[in-house]
Amino acid sequence: MYRERLELDGRVAVVTGGSRGIGLACVTALREFGATVVIADLLDDVGRAAAESFGGGVEYVHLDVTDAAAVAEVFAGVAERHGRLDILVTSAGIANHQPSSEISREAWDAVLAVNATGTFWCAREAARHMTRGASIVAIGSMSGELANAPQRQAAYNASKGAVHLAVKSLAVEYVDAGIRVNAVAPGYIGTDLTKDGVPGEWWDDWIRRTPMQRLGSPEEVASLVAFLASDAASYLTGSIVLADGGYSAW
Ligand code: NAP
Repeated sequence: MYRERLELDGRVAVVTGGSRGIGLACVTALREFGATVVIADLLDDVGRAAAESFGGGVEYVHLDVTDAAAVAEVFAGVAERHGRLDILVTSAGIANHQPSSEISREAWDAVLAVNATGTFWCAREAARHMTRGASIVAIGSMSGELANAPQRQAAYNASKGAVHLAVKSLAVEYVDAGIRVNAVAPGYIGTDLTKDGVPGEWWDDWIRRTPMQRLGSPEEVASLVAFLASDAASYLTGSIVLADGGYSAW
């Protein structure tokens, strides 16, 4: 009974930002549990190659989550091609580590547009095609719950705080439709997002501040996402589930 409730056979999933990092690990986990998965990302060559590497059951579509018309088109297209849409994972995201005194208006807008508005728009357009038993899992962040150190990143944290409250609001709004909405809030995970242009001293500091004394892996986030996407999580909606190695516990 418990094993069956984790299975995703016959379900159709979309993973935004699924070309690499946490998103790609989510694609792999959902596929392993039986779902057909659509990667929706900007990173076309990498995403297409990733989709092909599964040898079936995974396809790639180009999507900029900040383009509202394209978002509507992609979800309508998936529902039409596959006849259903059961799972959405929103992993498309960008980082910004600028102090508030230095960030430009354009950079602030870009972070909010991808992380907050993009997540909301994908959730809302996906929900139009979902039926009872569907599940939306947003990749939020522990940064939606606390201020990070040593870096200053008010824009990123505000964007993830918005994701968490949108998740709670949509969970309540969609409860009658039988669509569950939850977020996974990772701590520091070893991906290009945390490597590109990030000083090595920050990593040392992040590890020191994490009770488990290490960064997490994309797979450790993906297993939680697969659980939330499945019927095994049937009583969870509006939850922000931290996966942060204990960072926020002390
Ligand atoms: P990543 O390796 O940089 O992957 C993010 C993916 O999203 C990339 O393929 C990126 O494509 C894509 N993307 C960016 N903007 C997009 C847009 N407008 N439309 C569609 N796709 C877009 O990052 P990650 O570490 O896996 O992060 C995934 C999610 O987890 C993000 O929401 C991030 O905020 C969150 N998160 C990460 C960590 C961490 O420590 N890594 C911690 C907490 C939360 P391009 O490369 O072309 O931009």
